[in-house]
Amino acid sequence: MKVLAEASVKALTELLRASECAVVFTGAGISTESGIPDFRSPGGIWTKMAPIDFRDFVSSAEIRREAWRRRFALEEMFATVEPNEGHRAVAALVKRGKASHVITQNIDNLHQDSGVPDDLVIEIHGNTRYAKCLDCGERFELPPIRAHFEKHGEPPNCSACGGIVKTATISFGQPMPELEMVRAQEATLACDLFIVLGSSLVVYPAAGFPLLAKRNGARLVIVNREPTDQDEFADLAIHEQIGPTIQAAVKAL
Ligand code: NAD
Ligand code: ZN
Repeated sequence: MKVLAEASVKALTELLRASECAVVFTGAGISTESGIPDFRSPGGIWTKMAPIDFRDFVSSAEIRREAWRRRFALEEMFATVEPNEGHRAVAALVKRGKASHVITQNIDNLHQDSGVPDDLVIEIHGNTRYAKCLDCGERFELPPIRAHFEKHGEPPNCSACGGIVKTATISFGQPMPELEMVRAQEATLACDLFIVLGSSLVVYPAAGFPLLAKRNGARLVIVNREPTDQDEFADLAIHEQIGPTIQAAVKAL
């Protein structure tokens, strides 16, 4: 096992050395080492509660209250989590100019917290650390929403236009953010190495990016504890912990 892990790290280091423009693509798996559960591992969030569909959120005040109750229940965790060695290794790749962008499905803001400049993090599923009006896009911070919710039992409507306010995440059933999708596609098509860290690669359209990179001639690396359906297309698939693996590879560069 140890030998295998060492060989994997070496192969990843070699691919990084040969690359002039990499893209890092992350999923919930990179943040489990910070203490945020993922969705699809045993014990993951979905084994406990079904996600709320966007259409139900928009059409039902009761479902909106439930969504906000769930979000506030997680606040202690989201307000205190910190980037782990995996996030830091990714930030180092960006800082050294090895990686042009981080495309993330995560909503936890930990790439930015680890020092990747905001404009180099492409959040294709949004961000749960703040909220937005669904109509006019106005940004709202969470503490005043929570105070209003606790006082009135309801989330507030948008103070600018009266629209529905929701965490700035992309729910199932919600349209993908156009600008981020275009930016993610451009970065993917410009890279020569595409590195997937901690994604089960089953949520589309996000999971289409590794395949797009590969079809466009980039090398593809997947680091994920469990096998994924795209391992067969990868130049290198590593079934190990993300943090120690990517950190060792970056250190050896
Ligand atoms: P997923 O839960 O479907 O898959 C995560 C994968 O990571 C699993 O296959 C698991 O084996 C692997 N993994 C977990 N911890 C690992 C570790 N330490 N080392 C190596 N592998 C590890 O996640 P997904 O593909 O990102 O899709 C789920 C959706 O849920 C995404 O849209 C994401 O936005 C959202 N989500 C985000 C967070 C977050 O922001 N931290 C947390 C949960 C879910
Ligand atoms: Zn508004």
